[in-house]
Amino acid sequence: MSLNRAWIHIRGIVQGVGFRPFIHRLVRERDLHGTIKNSSSGVELELEGERAQLEAFIAELPRRAPKLAVIEEIETEYSDELKGFTDFQILSSKTEALRDTLISPDICICDDCLRELSDPKDRRYRYPFINCTNCGPRFTIIKDVPYDRVKTSMAAFPMCPDCDREYRDIENRRYHAQPDCCPVCGPEVFYLNAEGQRVEGDAIELARSTLKAGGIVAVKGLGGIHLACRCDEPEIAQTLRRRKQRDEKPFAVMCRNADCAAKGCELSDGERAVLEGFRRPIVLLKKREPGLWHISENAYVGVMLPYTPLHVLLFGDDIDMLVMTSANLSDTPMITGNDEAVRKLRGIADGFLLHNRDIQTRCDDSLGWVLDGKEYFARRSRGYVPFPVRMQRELPPILACGAEQKASFCLSRGAYVFPSQHIGDLKNMETFDCYTEQIAHFERLFDIHPKALVCDLHPDYLSTEYAAERAKQEGTALIRVQHHHAHLAACLADNLVEEKVIGLVWDGVGLGTDGTSWGAECLIGDYQGFERFGSIRPIPLIGGDLATKEIDRLAFALLREAGLEAGEIPNAGLYEKMVRAGLNCPLSSGIGRLFDGVAAILNIKTRCSYEGQGAVLLEAAATEDDGVFPIVLDGTPLRFDWREMIRALVKERDAGTEPGRLAARFMNTLIEMAVRQCVRAREASGLNTVALSGGSFQNLYVMKRLPERLSAEGFRVLRHRRVSANDEGLSLGQLMIAAACLP
Ligand code: ZN
Ligand code: ZN
Ligand code: FE
Repeated sequence: MSLNRAWIHIRGIVQGVGFRPFIHRLVRERDLHGTIKNSSSGVELELEGERAQLEAFIAELPRRAPKLAVIEEIETEYSDELKGFTDFQILSSKTEALRDTLISPDICICDDCLRELSDPKDRRYRYPFINCTNCGPRFTIIKDVPYDRVKTSMAAFPMCPDCDREYRDIENRRYHAQPDCCPVCGPEVFYLNAEGQRVEGDAIELARSTLKAGGIVAVKGLGGIHLACRCDEPEIAQTLRRRKQRDEKPFAVMCRNADCAAKGCELSDGERAVLEGFRRPIVLLKKREPGLWHISENAYVGVMLPYTPLHVLLFGDDIDMLVMTSANLSDTPMITGNDEAVRKLRGIADGFLLHNRDIQTRCDDSLGWVLDGKEYFARRSRGYVPFPVRMQRELPPILACGAEQKASFCLSRGAYVFPSQHIGDLKNMETFDCYTEQIAHFERLFDIHPKALVCDLHPDYLSTEYAAERAKQEGTALIRVQHHHAHLAACLADNLVEEKVIGLVWDGVGLGTDGTSWGAECLIGDYQGFERFGSIRPIPLIGGDLATKEIDRLAFALLREAGLEAGEIPNAGLYEKMVRAGLNCPLSSGIGRLFDGVAAILNIKTRCSYEGQGAVLLEAAATEDDGVFPIVLDGTPLRFDWREMIRALVKERDAGTEPGRLAARFMNTLIEMAVRQCVRAREASGLNTVALSGGSFQNLYVMKRLPERLSAEGFRVLRHRRVSANDEGLSLGQLMIAAACLP
């Protein structure tokens, strides 16, 4: 038997994720002895034991590591000089600063806790707040660091002796689980009627019977309160829409399990894995016609699975699917407080399933698709935040302030960048307050004092105003970054790529360096800078912002520019006068406007009740068609002149070709146009990598075909993986650009 000593350095995200107790267990299993301590880039182990056991231990690390741990590299050195360890010790290292550790996102109930929840002999049987080291609330209950029960919403619930024993036992699954509790010492659930009065009885059963009877119930989740109701009766969802004043915007649903989701939607293995994963985002699944039309009018419906024990108990074994939409009033932040819920949801909710554990930090449900088996975010929030993105090098401390409508921010510390949760539209005052509070909260939690602020070029964004004001007050540097450059950089950072690339950035609107509105850009650049290689012919927005709602104004503009008859559009006479007089008709090269205008020309939608509705419905309407309309590219920057395409499209429409085929052909044309722009950009620059970013790349028709076409032309394609392609992901790019210009 030959004994060896191994020095093992594990790099990655291994602090604050239950890694040391995990190692402790593994070491005991293998009969090894030694020490573990945190290092600045991970953890350091010194272990002695049989060589074969040491090797087996190392091989097991990545496979059995805690869910949140990210092991990037394991470095090992063996020696036969023994130190004679006789036990295993966790050493506290000098470099371990108080605020150096990471904070875990909220994690859905784990299998072990689920088992106990349904075991009549367990002391936590049917207890809606059961949790352990591997699951439960984290980010949403933390007030301050170090992460300790007294600094969370659980401070109000001192542990009972039984829970305390588990908490101190390193062999126990609840070792150092700060939110651990039980029916003796933990929070309580209760039910209120429509008037907000407490109803005696089993709160969960009361909520279930209200739901079954067709009522709407407010349910307190992890990061906010939802409104729930049955899905199977269109009238019930209609009632919720009417009360919530949410006419057409899709609702998300929660299903009892993935099999229930598969009844109404297509479900691939990759989608199932994300749906059932411990982060529990809302996954946008393709609807199976004609089901669920009253829930979502577009091609996809957002589905999530129960993630708290309370949800699990609410569904029981007989409810398959419920609408589960954020409780808020027209685009204000999601409600988090009990009193606030009762006050604001009067007349909307027929009952309230609440509890007395406070939500410290609002965090919306994450939302996205599964593309090639990987997550593709529309909104990165609960279950992911506040976990950092780890860059390849150390960064100075910077605050990136994001955009406006889909606001988010990023803060950097060392090699970590911490993207915030989904914040929302800053033009709403409550949302703006939430934005500034969260910036302060993150700076405190992660002990970051930004030495530079970075914002969008747009002077009127409230995030820009915030950054400018704060930079002035604190005397820090302020860096302004062009919107689409930031998108490009976000995609680079998201893929940990630093080289110069071709960037296709497609979105609704962003201020260009020339003072006009951009939005369908083919850029060449990196963190250091960019040039505008290509774009599209600008579209007059008749009536400015109004044209993004009344999209037949865009149809009029496209038809008129193409030299076609547009007289049948309501108010055509007025629009003609406005264009002629140049009255409130700013030009925009946003590709979203082209989608909207074509949706209206094809009569798919002419008036929108939410942003992007025209584009979303056009995508939903598309059927099979491989055709492509004529593509004209000219000028510098190389612009797509869409007039020829519009003429061909209208000709086909008038010949009776169905709109679904024309919608497909329109998107095929944009895809081919983009490929040609990239080929020309490659000829001009010698670059062979294309980064895709911007909100319009949330069109899955395009996202499934464009990368394929680009690859066929020999390009390497980068797309977003960790942050959203829309403006929410933009702050990451701002931060990296700022880091590149700081000394
Ligand atoms: Zn658990
Ligand atoms: Zn207890
Ligand atoms: Fe954008």
